[in-house]
Amino acid sequence: MALRSRLPHVGTTIFTVMSALAAETQAVNLGQGFPDFDCDPALPQAVCNAMAAGHNQYPPMPGVPALRQAMAAKMHVLYGAAVDANAEVTVTAGATQAILTALLAIVHPGDEVIVLEPCYDSYVPNIELAGGVVVRVPLVPGTFRPNFDALAAAITPRTRALIINSPHNPSGTVWREADMQRLQDLLAPTEVLLISDEVYEHMVFDGQAHASAARYPGLFERAFVVGSFGKTYHVTGWKVGTVVAPAALTAEFRKVHQFNVFTVNTPMQHALAAHMANPKPYLELSAFYQRKRDLFRQGLAQTRFRLLPSEGTYFQCVNISDLAVPERDLPEAEFCQWLTREVGVAAIPLSAFYGNGFDQRVIRFCFAKQDGTLQTALQRLSRL
Ligand code: PMP
Ligand code: GLN
Repeated sequence: MALRSRLPHVGTTIFTVMSALAAETQAVNLGQGFPDFDCDPALPQAVCNAMAAGHNQYPPMPGVPALRQAMAAKMHVLYGAAVDANAEVTVTAGATQAILTALLAIVHPGDEVIVLEPCYDSYVPNIELAGGVVVRVPLVPGTFRPNFDALAAAITPRTRALIINSPHNPSGTVWREADMQRLQDLLAPTEVLLISDEVYEHMVFDGQAHASAARYPGLFERAFVVGSFGKTYHVTGWKVGTVVAPAALTAEFRKVHQFNVFTVNTPMQHALAAHMANPKPYLELSAFYQRKRDLFRQGLAQTRFRLLPSEGTYFQCVNISDLAVPERDLPEAEFCQWLTREVGVAAIPLSAFYGNGFDQRVIRFCFAKQDGTLQTALQRLSRL
């Protein structure tokens, strides 16, 4: 059968490719972002309790009310946002579905959607599936900070939406209050909608605060704020996330959501709602990961890898230019293959986050790992 691909330029995601290679070669997997330690045992216990209590049929289409209420309450306490749990919160099958569904809900064929490169790999194919035109604006090379002049120049009467992501995957940069203020001023005279991917909201280091779009009324009125319980509670395999958006946007979102997944598995929603009653796990997550970041950075500082800043997320980027091996001159993607096979440490090339494969000699490690895993990786990396 001749099939005309909807995504002719897309292969298998780099995360899947590198995790498969790491498994095949038994390398330490610092590639795909996920913890190698388990979640709080209270969580699976709460899922069992919910199942035993009979929460095994479809939940309400937008999500279990207790979970939506817990989410609305958290947005109020942390970001000062007044959120209506009934009309403005929807539970999704992870942030991935949230972003695709938001785009399908708002993008008409030919509408432009701006992404800031490097960006998470699902954004561009999602925009294309929605019939949109991708407009790529680079973050400042070297620092990965937003370039507002370039962003302003990219906005046209056809711009339907902008996708932002802070804390940022892959660079680990965190947008400042001043960045959000500037974005608010820039978008104020426009009709541009905002998709704010905040899945790493609880991993912000060195005393910085997460600048959620929900804190800025001029942004929140036009925003889909996307969260993921996978990151926050060490359960990436559960695939449960949320979208918080004004009622009118949520109404459109749910029109698509109901025919996309209809709803998300019930027992896990009950478990997450129960778990959210205690804010400690997410309030302490930044300190938890900052310690791992510091341990990993201290080790890397003894190697020839050149450290880039990591202000948030569970990612650390490094420049490979100064390594003492000839493979340092390979393209990033090939270098990562070599590093996995021959050195026994998997990483992700930053070129995978650019449409044109821009190669700046930088690769990304995930440090959401047990200390022993990080030490083993560091030992291997110190040989280069
Ligand atoms: N956005 C970013 C920036 C991510 O890093 C991830 C994690 N893979 C996602 C979205 C998707 O999150 P989820 O696993 O909840 O679908
Ligand atoms: N967000 C994770 C990362 O950037 C991967 C998730 C996935 O495999 N799709 O590594």
